[in-house]
Amino acid sequence: MTEHITTVAGVAVDTRHWIGGERVASVRTFTDVSPIDGSTLGEIARGGATEAEAAVAAARTAFPGWAATPRTERARLLRAIADGVDKRLEDLAIVETHDNGALLRSHRRGVMPRVAHNFRFFADWLLRLEHEDFTTRGHTNHVSWDAAGPSVLITPWNAPLMLATWKIAPALAAGNTVVLKPAEWTPLTASLIADIAAEAGLPAGVLNVVQGYGAEAGSALVSHPDVRRISFTGSVPTARRIAGAAAANLVPASFELGGKSPLLVFADADLDLAVDLAVEQYDNAGQVCLAASRVLVEAPVAEEFTRRLVEQTARLRQGDPREEATDIGPNIHPRQLEKIDGFVRRALAAGARALVGGTPHEKLGGLYYRPTLLTGVAQDSEIVQEEVFGPVLTLQTFTDEEEAVHLANDTRFGLAATVATGDRERAARVTARLVAGTVWVNCFFVRDLQAPFGGSRQSGVGREGGTWSFDFYCDIKNTVSAPKGWKGHG
Ligand code: NAD
Repeated sequence: MTEHITTVAGVAVDTRHWIGGERVASVRTFTDVSPIDGSTLGEIARGGATEAEAAVAAARTAFPGWAATPRTERARLLRAIADGVDKRLEDLAIVETHDNGALLRSHRRGVMPRVAHNFRFFADWLLRLEHEDFTTRGHTNHVSWDAAGPSVLITPWNAPLMLATWKIAPALAAGNTVVLKPAEWTPLTASLIADIAAEAGLPAGVLNVVQGYGAEAGSALVSHPDVRRISFTGSVPTARRIAGAAAANLVPASFELGGKSPLLVFADADLDLAVDLAVEQYDNAGQVCLAASRVLVEAPVAEEFTRRLVEQTARLRQGDPREEATDIGPNIHPRQLEKIDGFVRRALAAGARALVGGTPHEKLGGLYYRPTLLTGVAQDSEIVQEEVFGPVLTLQTFTDEEEAVHLANDTRFGLAATVATGDRERAARVTARLVAGTVWVNCFFVRDLQAPFGGSRQSGVGREGGTWSFDFYCDIKNTVSAPKGWKGHG
């Protein structure tokens, strides 16, 4: 063990950056704390302009070799990384749970297998990537996907490795080299994925990880002139800053941002299912960008639906996310808890009523906030319009489809929407009018990686998934060839 290794639940994690195939320390560090109990997880290297410069230089140096690597070899290496994730699944799950406080059972069964799948999916996609040639007056138009260059990926803390690999995998598959800057509240699994990629045989400099704060490491990376793509998942204010940096260098940037998504429950819905869908929104202590935090229910069933929802919400078991029986763990950080509590207090002061919750958890203390359901909220109020990113749902009623659609669309966001109805024609009518990147009908969270994912309005710019990811990370080229014997226009 060196001073640069920290041990989290028995797993050794290097706290340094990973640049050009080497571990690199910084003079300064920052402390990474577990939201479960406030214990210190490690002193992490705090990167800035120097480390950003070194990482982009490493990515630039490695780029020509990686871009020229045959697709089959790139795909083989991506699959080897996926195998490495499978082998270290338990390590990744336990470290991630300590770092971000999300449920260990979800990390084991859902999230980490999905991380491996991200690499396998884009390996397969890469090998199938082709476009049928067009013919124009006998000339062939051939479309190809050329790698674009060093790509900077900036990710948040709510699903750290899942969201990072959702970008790393297509960027690497496309032949780009990568510099990842994970969120400063959850730096650990980014370090482990660097180990896994190195063990899989990924050449030095193809994947780099710079740790540190957004205002230091992050901003130095996104404004670097040698960067060819920027992909960001996080909040709207940060997106604005990054968009400014991207505009200055005229670099394509993709933004996956926040949301204030609605769940529309019509009177003809299966109410048991609708209540389950509502309760699901407390997952990850409400720290899910897609969460349908605004529940809109049709008046005739509002009373019955509310009774059942209150009952089920009150039954959720809150506590240590490492325990199998726990449904809701802690929120991420004291600042986040304060923010959540501030939203709820202001809503209550403005006349809202808490049907469940409404305060931090008195017994558990720490960062545990009680799952909260607020009613009596006005459409133009802060609690209905702004993303809380905590276990807080609002409940409103509507009287007809028209009003339901109006309320659903009446925020500045457009990430997702969920509709619970037993009427397929109504589902078709309503979904066609909803402004959202993803709409679920009688389900939630299910999504194929081939499908586009992203937000409308302030919820994002661009789409990720399948061909949308590849198109973003590549310089797409059209090569037009004359037919044999072509003698020109004359
Ligand atoms: P954030 O914007 O505060 O931080 C995200 C990342 O940006 C972090 O790595 C941070 O260090 C970095 N950063 C901050 N300032 C920067 C700067 N000036 N330049 C470059 N990088 C900078 O967001 P957060 O609080 O970590 O994440 C929560 C937000 O993310 C919520 O709004 C949530 O809805 C959103 N989110 C969206 C999706 C999606 O796919 N749409 C998924 C998860 C989370």
